[in-house]
Amino acid sequence: MGFIVMMLAQSCEQASSMANSSAVNHKSKPKKSDAPRLKRDSLRDTICIAAVGDIMLGSSYPDSSKLPSDSAKGSFKSAQKYFEGADVVFGNLEGTLLDSGMPDSHKKKLETGYLFRMPTQYGKVLKDAGFNLLSVANNHITDFDNKGCVSTTRTLADNGIHYAGLETCPTTIFERNGIKYGFCAFSPNSRTVHLLDSINQRRIISKLKEQCDVVIVSFHGGAEGAQYEHVPFKMESYLNAKRGDVHQFAHNAVDAGADIVLGNGPHVSRAMETYKGRLIAYSLGNFCTYKSVSVAGVCGMAPLLKVYLNKKGEFLNGNIIAFRQTHERGLSRDTANRVVQRIKTLTESDFPETKLNIDEDGGISLND
Ligand SMILES: [Zn+2]
Repeated sequence: MGFIVMMLAQSCEQASSMANSSAVNHKSKPKKSDAPRLKRDSLRDTICIAAVGDIMLGSSYPDSSKLPSDSAKGSFKSAQKYFEGADVVFGNLEGTLLDSGMPDSHKKKLETGYLFRMPTQYGKVLKDAGFNLLSVANNHITDFDNKGCVSTTRTLADNGIHYAGLETCPTTIFERNGIKYGFCAFSPNSRTVHLLDSINQRRIISKLKEQCDVVIVSFHGGAEGAQYEHVPFKMESYLNAKRGDVHQFAHNAVDAGADIVLGNGPHVSRAMETYKGRLIAYSLGNFCTYKSVSVAGVCGMAPLLKVYLNKKGEFLNGNIIAFRQTHERGLSRDTANRVVQRIKTLTESDFPETKLNIDEDGGISLND
């Protein structure tokens, strides 16, 4: 046990030193007289965050029949070009990156068909697609016990992907194009940073805001399935477990310093709103979840959210690019823009007073 904890601590350190090294490389030391001008030049006015929901690229457990035949290399081929140019490309990694090992004994009894063990070589698939930030705060990161957590975080670090959301790795800080980002992620699940502990959340988020220009917060919360598309404005429960009051969580997060709040967990998309000038996306649904996750009906609608913020983290504008998933064809562009229409309808229904305007093509803007 002690050994495992030590390894976890090491893998976190690896990630933070990786973040630091990119920060150091980026800031070439200016001469004193040049410092103000260089600093201004290095800070662009607009930053771009691309974000998606759940990612699970196949599972080698219990056997290889749940792995894609192309070793997952084509998973994001239809989406990759839309990630290009974004400063941050974010998703929720709904599973472990682990080559061998048995499930957590508690989980094995409960959910044998839903235990996600992706080969560690899939870490490169995520990297090659463009992901540089992933949440590991969810109910599947612990599918294969501590061994799965350690292997996942080590694999992400080896691929230069920042991550956070475990108790052992609650936050990450990294720099991109002269902007310092802080990231934290929460879920109601064991060993992750808890979604129901509002005091701890405030402490984590406000500390990140002191240290960073832009703070990105993710949560994995809310009930799951097609009947839970609406934000209920109360505590949600699912399978006898509390899954958070996501509206209250998101507002508390912004009050504490979050500049953008990205929800996932319900396996369907939910509404968006702005609060204090910050964007909250209550759920980005499934994005790329291979065959073990239902993609029927609204569960197959897969939004790619691109958000433009100023360097203080205030929302400027954005767009939703519509994809869909089928078990036969995987992830593909949805030229019918179904998920745009769905998020627009949900937003108008759940947040009729919001200043956020979503047009038919997916453009997101603020009404005056
Ligand atoms: Zn989940």
